[in-house]
Parts: sequence; C-alpha cells; structure tokens
Amino acid sequence: MSKAPIPDAFPEGARIAVLTTQPLGRPLDYRAPAGGLRAGAFVEVPLGPRKVLGVVWGPGTGEVAAGKLRSVLRVLDAAPMRPELRAFLERAADYTLTPLPAMLRLATRAPGLGDPPAMRRLFVAGERAPTRMTDARARVLDALEAATSGLTLAELTEAAGVSASVVKGLVAQGAVAEIETPRDAPFPRLDPEVRGKPLSADQAAAAEALRAGVAAGGYATTLLKGVTGSGKTEVYLEAVAECLARGRQALVLLPEIALTAEFLDRVEARFGARPAEWHSGLTMTERRRVWRMTGEGGAQMVVGARSALFLPFADLGLVIVDEEHDSSYKQEEGVLYNARDMSVLRAAHAGAQVVLASATPSLETWANVEAGKYDRLELAARFGAVLPEMRAIDMRAEGLPAGRWISETLARAVETRIAAGEQALLFINRRGYAPVTLCRACGHQIACPDCDARLVEHRFLKRLVCHQCGESIPTPAACPECGKEESLAAIGPGVERLAEEAQARFPEARLAVLSSDLFASARALKAEIAAIAEGGADIVIGTQLVAKGHNFPLLTLVGVIDADLALHGSDLRAAERTFQLMRQVAGRAGRKEKPGVAMLQTHQPDHPVIRAILAGDEEGFWRAEAAARQATGMPPYGRLAGIILSGPEPEPVFQLGQALARADGPLRRIGAEVWGPAPAPIARIRGRHRVRLLVKAAKGAPLQPALSEWLAQVEVKAPLRLAVDIDPQSF
Ligand code: ADP
Ligand code: ZN
Repeated sequence: MSKAPIPDAFPEGARIAVLTTQPLGRPLDYRAPAGGLRAGAFVEVPLGPRKVLGVVWGPGTGEVAAGKLRSVLRVLDAAPMRPELRAFLERAADYTLTPLPAMLRLATRAPGLGDPPAMRRLFVAGERAPTRMTDARARVLDALEAATSGLTLAELTEAAGVSASVVKGLVAQGAVAEIETPRDAPFPRLDPEVRGKPLSADQAAAAEALRAGVAAGGYATTLLKGVTGSGKTEVYLEAVAECLARGRQALVLLPEIALTAEFLDRVEARFGARPAEWHSGLTMTERRRVWRMTGEGGAQMVVGARSALFLPFADLGLVIVDEEHDSSYKQEEGVLYNARDMSVLRAAHAGAQVVLASATPSLETWANVEAGKYDRLELAARFGAVLPEMRAIDMRAEGLPAGRWISETLARAVETRIAAGEQALLFINRRGYAPVTLCRACGHQIACPDCDARLVEHRFLKRLVCHQCGESIPTPAACPECGKEESLAAIGPGVERLAEEAQARFPEARLAVLSSDLFASARALKAEIAAIAEGGADIVIGTQLVAKGHNFPLLTLVGVIDADLALHGSDLRAAERTFQLMRQVAGRAGRKEKPGVAMLQTHQPDHPVIRAILAGDEEGFWRAEAAARQATGMPPYGRLAGIILSGPEPEPVFQLGQALARADGPLRRIGAEVWGPAPAPIARIRGRHRVRLLVKAAKGAPLQPALSEWLAQVEVKAPLRLAVDIDPQSF
C-alpha cells in the first residue's frame, strides 16, 4: 500500500522550539526518533545536561552536521499544538520582540503535560452535616464549597490549613465524600438552546449582528459599545450561544478575577452549566484539566484572565474582551503584551470573531473603528434605567478643614439617600489608610528601601506596605529616621481613612469597605458584593475594585472623593484614563428603576476632561483627544516602544541607555526618534534601578525589525537587563 507523504511529518529531523529560560530565540535542530516527528508534537529533548520540553516547529534546517545532531528523547502523549496556535505564537513573539521560547511558555502552562490521563481521588462535600462543628472542620467545608470540582487531599489540607486527620474524620461522618474521577473530565455541557432574556430593540439588533458574524465564520472584530447597564453582557452572550450551537468554542476575557464569580453565575443561568475558568487561583489539577479540555473540545467556553488566550483551543470561534479599555489587560511583567491586541491576533489566526465590549473604548479601538478595521455596534440606552445625572462639587468653595475629604454637599446627598433606603458609594482610587507617612519632627517620609515608592499605611493590617513590590513592615511607633516617638502622621486619604471619616460623619450608617487587600479570597469578596447588592450596607466605600462591572440595584449616589487624582502626572494617557474611570464609577449609580446621581469632588471644575465627563460628551472628548494625539504623532496615530533597562546600580544602567541612544542608526533609517534615557515610570523596583528609552515611529514604519537591529548592537550582560515594551501603557 502506498501512502501519500504527510507534509507535516518529519521523518529525519526537525526544528524544535525548546522551552528554556535562556534567551534562545530560534528553534533548534534535533534528530527524529524512529517513527519520525509530526509538526506541533510535544517532545522531550536534551539541552546541555538537562531534559526540556519542546514543540516540533518545522523541518530541520540541515545546518547542523548529521553526526552532531542530538536526538529527541521521547514524544509526549499530548495532542500536537495546532498550526494556527504555532503561527500565532510566532507572530506574537515577533510583534512583542519576545524570544519564541518565552512566548511558547505562556501556551504550555499545563502541569503533567504528556502524562497519560489517570483516575484520581477527589474530596467533595458529603450529604451529612458533621456531628460537631469546629473551626478546622468549617474551613474544610468552606474550601470544598469554593472549589469547582472537588479537591485532592493535598489541595484540601492546604486550602483549609488542616491536617489529613481532620478530613478523614469528616469522611467517617459522611460530611465529606471521596470520589474517583478521571483526571481530565470534560466540563458539563452548556446548552445554547436555552432562551436568553427577551431583548430590547437595539439589543436585539446588536445581538443579531454578532450572531450573523459568528454564523458566517472567519475573523472579524466588532466594538460593542454601550453605557454600563445597557446589556452588553446580555448581548454578547447571544453571540456565545451562536458559537456554541455551531460546536465551536468561546473565550471570554474579564479584566478582574473578582468579577469572575458573578459572571459564572450569569453563564450558568443562561446556559444551564458553568464554563471552564482560567486564572491564577486554579489548582494544578484544575489547570491541567482546563488546558487538556480546551484542546480536546471538552470545554465549550472558557472564562478567564488574559493568559487564557494562550490555551490550545480545538476550534475557537469567538473571543469576547469585556471592558476592553481596561489597563489590566496589559501584562507588565515577564512577557509584555496587551491581551486585547493579542486576542485579535489570536482570533485572526483561528478564524474567530472578536467582540470588544466597553462603555468607554480605548483610543486605540476608536481609531481602528474609524479606520474601518473594526465594526461598531452601539447600545444607546440603559436597560430599564437612565444614566446618572453628573454634577461637580467645587471643592474650592467647600472650605473643608484639613484631614477631611467628604464635603458638606456630598454628605447631605448621602444622608438623603440613606434616609430613602438607598445606597451611596464613596469612591477613592487609593488603597490603604494614607498614601504618605511623615514624621512631624524631622519631615522624614517613610519609603520602600527597594523601590522608588513611599510606604502606604494599612491600618487594618497595622503595617506599612509598598504598593510597588508588596513588601511591608509593621507600622513603627517611632520615626525610623530621628527616633522620635509618636511623631508619625498620616498624610492624605486612602480608602481606610475615608471609611473612618464616613463612620464618624454617619454614625448610624452601615458601612462596607471594598478594597482588594481587605479580602482574603475571591469568594469572601463575592459574598460581600452579594450582601451589598441585597441591601446589607448603606454606604459602600471602595477603590477601583467597585468601578468594574458589579450591579448594585439599590445604589443611587456615587461620590467621587478626588476626581482630579488621575489628571495629574506626566502620563499622556491621564485624560483618557480619568475619563474612563469616572464614567465607569458613575455608571454604578442608578442601575435599576431608581435614577442615580454622580457627584465629582474637584478643584478644577473647568478642566476640559472634567467638563467632558460632566457633559457626557463622549464623542466630543474622543475627538479632542484623538486630534491632540494625531497632532503629536502619538499612539494610536504613531507607534511607541519602550526599552526598559535595569540593574542594581544606577550608573551602568544609565551608561547602557546612553550607548543605545548613540547607536540609533537603524532607527533613524526608518525615520524613528529615540527619547531618553530617562528614569522609567517606576524608577526603582525591588532594588533595581530602571531607565527607559522611548522610540517613536510613524504608524506604518517597520518598527520591530529596526528595533531588533538596534538592540543587537549592544551587549547586555547580567546583572543588567533589557526588556522591550511595545505599545507601552504610559507615555
Ligand atoms: P452591561 O454589560 O452593558 O453593563 P448587563 O448586560 O450587565 O449590561 O445588563 C445590566 C443589567 O440589566 C443586568 O442585570 C441584566 O441582567 C439586565 N438586563 C439587560 N438587558 C436585559 C433584558 N433584555 N431583559 C432583562 N434584563 C436585562
Ligand atoms: Zn517596594
């Protein structure tokens, strides 16, 4: 029997992309084992003295003499990586100037990859209640309730902080049950035929357009714009239904893990089962299951954080990027990438549709709509509610005494709302008690020893915390500089301090403080959010955590404590960010029948950004912003790349920066300019000094090849490091 040659099989040797931490950019040549190699296969190969994981990337180059080729050790029992995922990774690596292995690592974060599926024992909640409840037992039951699919003994004892004997005791009583399951079971089926809510006319029109796109198949990106509460989620779930009905997979990216719980409930209500989740909170076993099942099609829908876009989907048909403008989509450590932009690239390779949902789209997305690259759908009105009225409180006229931040005007509005049985939200985008701790005797400000950042007092934790590196120290009783006792003063407001003021100002009110650091787990946060939604608080005090996505039906007043906060600073994106954040926070008010009001405390009521927010003149704001960026050739009308150099000593870092700035020939050839070296936006972190060069190029210029050529001219020796940040967030 004669067989046609299989084009994707390499009988002799192949190039293999090897997962190593060394900055080897290119795949390496290896000899094939008996039986040959198939493109995309996961293999184990020798690298120096080690064995490492690799992916078969293409035919051998023949550059290495046959006698010198090392052999592939074994081919793993895992489905080969699909060509479209490989092509995407290669493009993503080129775009972000990341070595392929580092990019590949994002797509292979699956423990036990290649291990055969096996049965394993899991613990789940049992039928009976324990005979006697102890703290330890309660923690075990809590941990089981929080887990989506049961836990191994090791995971359970770790999560609950108990010994195995506590678990065994509960098993004996029938309060915990042991089950045997295959390691990688498919996820429960989502039923796309379950009807969604009846849609309003413009919701239905938008849903129809998205469904049609999914039905047509192939790649396209659509901006789904609509004020908070207009039903964007409701609408894009229709697109998900269409995708599932066609047997393809859907991916929904959310900017904040805290939003996942609420969203999963919604998906369950809509499709009758919970989808797969992907985020940093998963156990190794869960991670492995999701990774395998997306590859085998046993996960129809994945809801996750940005790295979910690297999962090995069998047939990706739709990607939703919710709150597409959110800056947390930018990964700022390790491989620097923007998950929104990478989603579009991923979808283009997979032949999938993309929906970018936002009330306040990024300027980048606006520009792509204007250029005709993205389609645009708009939900004009709130569903069953009206947008909040926006008012400014001119703080210059309020005459507040030092150390207080709630104006009389705002306080009276809060009282009125509480008296009416409604809720008020006081928003301040600062965690902790106070941003600055200052010695009244010597003027010393307590700063992080390792970072260019002040330590922030967290009174609840009784510690001073660095928001840059996370290090903390117990709040000292005396000034560490001059030694004077009780001389330390808190300067400025943080969310904890605002809560203190609110409690004093409204002694009868029930307060809920929502700040990420005050919750031990996503589950605790979810419980608090549910309690607030049901009326369990009169005043909600929160950081940016509350600005995103949650529905509080009783909330009718939003007070922004410092609307000017984000306007300051040199970042050219400040206006855009302030606009987005303020609109989003204001959107928390009056989500149901009761109309809402948003009050912005400001010292600059005439600032153009504040005025645009108050007027709700979105298009006007964007046009003005766009014109300003266009005039200066800044993104999205020009291209930027940041080069971050870092090292333990400032001097060599600067010298390296200067050497680069001098060697700018390859950049000049494409008409690009270099600015810097200058201190990076975070000038020191974890003991490393950081310097940045910014490269600005015209929109169509071949930036990446020029950057490669430019950077290849200098040698970066440890302990110095160089990182490339294409499309930096701040500029
Ligand atoms: P967005 O994502 O734009 O903020 P959501 O989809 O979350 O809006 O909708 C806001 C609220 O209105 C949610 O509680 C949602 O269930 C409800 N809602 C939206 N559209 C409808 C509809 N057609 N029928 C019933 N409820 C709806
Ligand atoms: Zn620090």
